[in-house]
Amino acid sequence: MNLSRIAALTGGTLVGTDIAIERVSTDTRTLQAGDFFVALRGEHFDAHDYLDQAAAAGARAALVEQPTGAFAHYVQVQDSRRGLGLLAAGWADQFTALRIGVTGNAGKTTVKEMIALMLGGQTLATRGNLNNDIGVPLTLLSLNDSHRFAVIELGANAPGEIRWTSSLVKPQIALITNVTGAHLEGFGTLQGIADAKSEIFTGMRAGSTAIINSDDAFADFFSAQAENAGLTLCRVSAEQAADISATDIETDIDQVRFSLSVGGDFYPVMIPLPGRHQVSNALLALAAVNAAGIPLAQAIGRLATLKPVPGRVNRSACLGGTLIDDSYNANPGSVQAAIALLADYAAPRMLVLGALGELGPQSADIHRELGRTARAAGIEHLVAVGEGARPAAEGFGESARYAAHHEAAVQEARPVLQGGGTVLVKGSRSAHMDVVASQLRAMG
Ligand code: ATP
Ligand code: MG
Repeated sequence: MNLSRIAALTGGTLVGTDIAIERVSTDTRTLQAGDFFVALRGEHFDAHDYLDQAAAAGARAALVEQPTGAFAHYVQVQDSRRGLGLLAAGWADQFTALRIGVTGNAGKTTVKEMIALMLGGQTLATRGNLNNDIGVPLTLLSLNDSHRFAVIELGANAPGEIRWTSSLVKPQIALITNVTGAHLEGFGTLQGIADAKSEIFTGMRAGSTAIINSDDAFADFFSAQAENAGLTLCRVSAEQAADISATDIETDIDQVRFSLSVGGDFYPVMIPLPGRHQVSNALLALAAVNAAGIPLAQAIGRLATLKPVPGRVNRSACLGGTLIDDSYNANPGSVQAAIALLADYAAPRMLVLGALGELGPQSADIHRELGRTARAAGIEHLVAVGEGARPAAEGFGESARYAAHHEAAVQEARPVLQGGGTVLVKGSRSAHMDVVASQLRAMG
């Protein structure tokens, strides 16, 4: 792409010669010779301080917010984050891949992985969790004419973020997994979260498909928003009749089975991951690939080969018991799902819970409620790790334990495993509960 084209897409000014660039980089550490360097300003860094370094590393041109002597050729814009998005959208618009957008509070990455697997090769999918206003453009920039499909995860920490990323992606099929209360701090209320998630519909053309999870508390709200945007609705449910639904759900310690019902036809489905919540993830993913034209029988066959992602419900034998490492991240909905899953395992069962972050003033109440939920589900032991998680111990009741640090939590969990029981480790990324899981694993 030529610099003049980038200037036109981003509303920027070209300084220097109209050379062509082939690759975009936002990071001097991974930059390759010939790259177009996009100088982003973050909370903790300003890439404009590294322009000389970028040029020395071989960048040919740059996107910047201020005039620079480091480059002979550059495009100057007011806001380079915005510029990156517009550049990426302009790049992606050259290609015909069908675009699928995935948002929601819990299960985005899981559903994205399911969809990508079922769509087969020739699919571009968000790498890992690159779902924000930088990650989404970087994903779009890797689109090329070998791709038939693009499945893109859209996340948000604040209102307006998904409106922006959806305007870049312009999904032809979109889904919202659920509203469970992640990032409550940034949005204030569950309705605030639902508003932000529904922004995904604003980037879509009329006639595109919105997949609605009818079992979510905000299903009616999302349906109304999608209808207002002129979208075609496809409803999925694991609890009632819907366009695509699940019946005869059977959960096992390492898989879930159900009967998929679509327009009077039934298909047996197996997901090789534990947890009832995988049914709703699978229904959403199946609806998306069905809308994309993939035969269901083929999709279901591929779904059965799904691999778990590290740190997300990874089960292993440990010290004579079962360790379930779900330490990657947590929000209220995913802790509830984890508790339901743990309840299916061999007793005695222990939930080792680190604090959930970003919950704002309701944090203590939410932790307390999770403690109560664990007790009500019949879980025998709970260890709250760190000050933020302490209210979970209060909610659980007298037998709950408090661990001030990871090592103390490891000591609490050890005898449960040695007694043949099951320990599930969970918490927000910020609680680093993977430390507890790996210390336990190291013990055998
Ligand atoms: P992030 O906001 O970190 O990107 P995500 O929405 O991509 O999260 P996943 O990474 O797929 O979600 O899953 C995160 C956690 O949520 C995991 O612990 C998983 O077990 C749990 N989870 C997955 N799907 C659901 C669901 N449908 N309902 C509740 N919890 C779920
Ligand atoms: Mg994710």
